[in-house]
Amino acid sequence: MDRKKDQQRLSKIQGCLIGGAIGDALGATIEFDSINQVLARYGKEGITDFVNKYGTAGIFTDDTQMSLFSCEGILNYFNSDHSFVNIDDLVIEIWKSYKNWYITQSVPFSANDKDKYDSRLMKFENLFANRAPGGTCLSSLQSGKFGTMDDQINNSKGCGTVMRIAPAGFIENIDNFELGCKIGALTHGHPTGYLASGCLAQIISYISHGDSILNSIKKSIKILKKYEYHEQTLEAVEKAVDFYKLGLTPNYQIVEMLGGGWIAEEALSIALYCALDYQEDFQKALILSVNHSGDSDSTGAITGNILGTYIGIEAIPKKWIDEVEMSSEILEMAVGLYSLLK
Ligand SMILES: [Mg+2]
Repeated sequence: MDRKKDQQRLSKIQGCLIGGAIGDALGATIEFDSINQVLARYGKEGITDFVNKYGTAGIFTDDTQMSLFSCEGILNYFNSDHSFVNIDDLVIEIWKSYKNWYITQSVPFSANDKDKYDSRLMKFENLFANRAPGGTCLSSLQSGKFGTMDDQINNSKGCGTVMRIAPAGFIENIDNFELGCKIGALTHGHPTGYLASGCLAQIISYISHGDSILNSIKKSIKILKKYEYHEQTLEAVEKAVDFYKLGLTPNYQIVEMLGGGWIAEEALSIALYCALDYQEDFQKALILSVNHSGDSDSTGAITGNILGTYIGIEAIPKKWIDEVEMSSEILEMAVGLYSLLK
């Protein structure tokens, strides 16, 4: 890989991770509010910048926490010596990392315990904070069961799969779709839950290699169609593309026609629509992605992942990069992924 391509790749990984954290933090404030409440409180544009939540502005939620634990699982796997990547072993490593995330949500942070855990992330008090963690992720990890696509752990298709999967899109020489599905199935047994996750990992992979967002979606749809029970995910993804192709002025009414984003295929659909509609404008895409009555932090996080990958970190407003929680640690983690995965 030449130097310019190297730099672009790092920029895309950093853009993906920090973009997700920014979208998550932007939406966190209004996660449980209706659009009428949002407009009444923040004016006709809705929320357009970080505001105080959890004690300060720029604070992200479980979506970014879990994405960081996805990264740590990947880094742990590649830090051991692997001459080739075995998807199932990699998924086990990520599952172990999610179990660490579960601990952060179950016990209070203690400075004395900092070195007790074999996890860099568990040295940060912020990551022990409860930021409305998803119930299905918690209960699945608490059960100790290892969910797979064949041995489903439950029948959930909540968006807890797609909101944490983006880092899996950067692994080279692997079936990113299958990997995304298997990571999703660790906690969510409904096919739409894990297929939406596989689809996003694959879309991120294509975008990271230089494909347009639209082309990445089209190529991922071809793979999606090979899986059983793909219909709900396919319908949601195609709906996002169809709405984008209508060329209407983007607004929250269109976003709300794609759903609330609480379930995986709707969160993916909203994020794809917002990223497609404002491909060159991170700020506008993110504002569009969070201002609706649904799961604003997750739709913001996923939009930030997709568009951050597409445009790279340089095109993300510096103010947001500086203000989002754990910014330097997130960027450092992206460097770790870049170094290990190239
Ligand atoms: Mg959240």
